[in-house]
Amino acid sequence: MAEKFDVVIIGAGAAGLMCAAQAGKRGRKTLILDHAKKPGRKILIAGGGRCNFTNYDVSANNYLCQNPHFVKSALSQYTNWDFISLVSQHGIEFEERDHGQLFCVGDYTSKDIVKMLLTECDLPTVSQRYQQDVHQIEKTEHGFTLHANNSVIECQSLVVATGGLSMPKLGATPFGYKIAEQFGLSVVPTSAGLVPFTLHKEDKQALAELSGIAVPTEITAQDGTVFKEALLFTHRGLSGPSVLQISSFWRAGQKVSINLVPDVDLDELLQRSLEKHPNQSLKNTLSKVLPKRLVEVLIELKLLEDKPLKQLNSKQLAAVTTQLQQWQITPNGTEGYRTAEVTLGGVDTDHLSSKSMECKQIRGLYFIGEVVDVTGWLGGYNFQWCWSSAYAAGQWV
Ligand SMILES: Cc1cc2nc3c(=O)[nH]c(=O)nc-3n(C[C@H](O)[C@H](O)[C@H](O)COP(=O)(O)OP(=O)(O)OC[C@H]3O[C@@H](n4cnc5c(N)ncnc54)[C@H](O)[C@@H]3O)c2cc1C
Repeated sequence: MAEKFDVVIIGAGAAGLMCAAQAGKRGRKTLILDHAKKPGRKILIAGGGRCNFTNYDVSANNYLCQNPHFVKSALSQYTNWDFISLVSQHGIEFEERDHGQLFCVGDYTSKDIVKMLLTECDLPTVSQRYQQDVHQIEKTEHGFTLHANNSVIECQSLVVATGGLSMPKLGATPFGYKIAEQFGLSVVPTSAGLVPFTLHKEDKQALAELSGIAVPTEITAQDGTVFKEALLFTHRGLSGPSVLQISSFWRAGQKVSINLVPDVDLDELLQRSLEKHPNQSLKNTLSKVLPKRLVEVLIELKLLEDKPLKQLNSKQLAAVTTQLQQWQITPNGTEGYRTAEVTLGGVDTDHLSSKSMECKQIRGLYFIGEVVDVTGWLGGYNFQWCWSSAYAAGQWV
């Protein structure tokens, strides 16, 4: 005999839990199914265990999606302020870090965000089952029939909240995309986003010794997108917030342009130094505003020529400024899904109602969270998309 539910949600991550709480509050008999042992594994590791759960400043501009307007409806139905208010109601303390990013603080960690979502789901209408292998889904006249482990489950609404492909170790699978394909929906090709760059051999060898050094930068992708944040040299390549951000806008083979001195008037520094200390070397001059090892490596890479300042003519001095403000580097690739925070691409939003996240062609089928072709910037935007899309769907399922 089939068990009957109003709503089945596949995936007990940020989006799935939020949606279950909303559906449950509307009195809908809701079941969450997940193949993992526990809910919210990505939330637990997010933000170094402090979960950057949203941002003070959220708009459609903070998202990548083939339809740049798609996110607007959900983001306005459930805003960052709604989630901040929920966090506050649960007594979770938080702090603002750079760029309006909100993190748990003090005694409060990512665990409290998961606990909060589970408390919200603690309703007589909501059940949860873990270690579930959903191996078959069929469309029926009134909804869907699912086969999970040894049970047969019928529901009116099916919500796919299985997330993206990043961090397979944490249980990420392409299941959501397969469900989309099963129902004839297109999936925008996926790739790793918010991910460190790897470098070509020569750059990697030269830069590896800078591992651990962070510098403020302004980094520009070939499409003109710019982020001003720290860059971190690692033993594998380049990381840090500026690189993670720009990685979502980078395509294989493209260059990125890095301003290594975004807060320095370099022309002025070089001119002043030339007047006051004409015998000072370029290396020592630049080491006042950049880590000395970085300057040495740029010299080794022949991007700069170390000479006393008085031996550099005005054209050569201008070239130094250009070199440091527009350091061109072509990444070899990215570290891929193994370390990526998100997946670019996903279920094509053309198939979905932006108001309810319901599939236009298949009534009762919903996609929410990261499985959809919506990717946020670094800074709490990905969770905000989960909360907003889940809330929107939760009003209709
Ligand atoms: C290291 C790291 C740090 C991050 N930090 C932040 C941050 O601080 N702020 C931020 O906004 N974003 C952050 N992100 C991104 C954010 O975690 C994700 O965008 C978000 O978790 C996506 O939520 P989701 O509910 O859509 O999917 P997920 O959280 O991935 O949940 C999907 C669920 O579906 C289940 N599932 C998958 N396949 C199946 C299947 N076949 N059968 C049954 N169940 C299945 C999974 O077990 C999982 O529980 C981070 C990501 C990573 C990897």
